[in-house]
Amino acid sequence: MSAQTRGTGIWSYAERLPRIAEQHRITLGEGHTPLVRSCRIGETIGIPNLYFKLESLSPTGSYKDRIAAMMLSLAREHGKTACIGTTSGNAGASIAAYAARAGIPYHVYVQENIVPSKLEQILVHRAEVYRVKGMGFDPHIGTQVFETVLAKAKANNWEPAVTAFAYAPLAMEAVKTISCEIHEQLGAPDAVFVPVGGGGLFAGIHKGFAELHAEGSLARLPRMAACQSAGCANLANAWKQGLGKPLPGGSTSLISGIQVPSPPDADLVFAALKESRGFADALQDEDTWHWQERLAADEGIFCEPAGAIGLAGAAKAARDGMIGKEDNVVIVISGAGFKDVQRIRTMTESAQVPFIEADGM
Ligand SMILES: *Cc1c(COP(=O)(O)O)cnc(C)c1O
Repeated sequence: MSAQTRGTGIWSYAERLPRIAEQHRITLGEGHTPLVRSCRIGETIGIPNLYFKLESLSPTGSYKDRIAAMMLSLAREHGKTACIGTTSGNAGASIAAYAARAGIPYHVYVQENIVPSKLEQILVHRAEVYRVKGMGFDPHIGTQVFETVLAKAKANNWEPAVTAFAYAPLAMEAVKTISCEIHEQLGAPDAVFVPVGGGGLFAGIHKGFAELHAEGSLARLPRMAACQSAGCANLANAWKQGLGKPLPGGSTSLISGIQVPSPPDADLVFAALKESRGFADALQDEDTWHWQERLAADEGIFCEPAGAIGLAGAAKAARDGMIGKEDNVVIVISGAGFKDVQRIRTMTESAQVPFIEADGM
């Protein structure tokens, strides 16, 4: 089939996604992101075959665009008059853009400590935004907001716009397109490192590989490596203790996008860890920032901190002997550098930029 008949964006994988009539399919050209080989970092951390999946190059700067394309298409297919959801920032920016394109209003509840540049990106698309006190720190408030949003969606017949399998399972199917692309670009990776907040990205990538494996296209399942911030590691710490449920407790993480102390897709994450013989780890925020800087300086890859935590995880896994020298390893770079302008200021504040005369150069 030609690219034209297969459709653009996630719709080139329409046969793997919930059925949407062609006239209801929305796209901004999401997906089809590059997989680039590491030119320096891989060698230095002992993973010569290291690859970066650049979801940072998505239309609004994060992989959430794949989900938003499906979500707003579902809303149109089902005649929904609005969508309603929660966000730490990127889902909101993405859904706001696709809602604008669909001509559907978007009501969104954002976490208290949302990165200002992410809030601004949501507002550009004219979403109706509320900021919820305590959301992003307190697990009970997080769960309460998820439940309220779901109840409001039901009562008004609006599309529930929360990027988790627990709340929007059909829209989340779009995450599988990441696995399809990695499979086309690389074949079968040995391990895939994924940032984990609510767990939907991790669960969706595993689901994509599991489906390819079940139909015989993929010889073996890649080991799925879940990377959480040490300040919000309820899943990783539970997994390390051999438990099957996330530990209780709030978030002190400073990494936007993965501050989810009550991960809605926890059960799916544990199942994927088990099925893929994967592993989970908690990374210090300083470590994640370090690898964000290294990606920019050594590889030319500009991502937000959450996009670099997978690399922090891989470097640690190589040190801990969890990854072999021969392994093909993929890091999912989930979001773009421009997302977090505050962080860019911190990264560059010590840089010297002398002010000079043109004739004194
Ligand atoms: C949403 C997001 C994540 C976390 O995804 P979950 O499905 O909540 O685990 C990681 N990185 C970025 C950049 C995100 O926007």
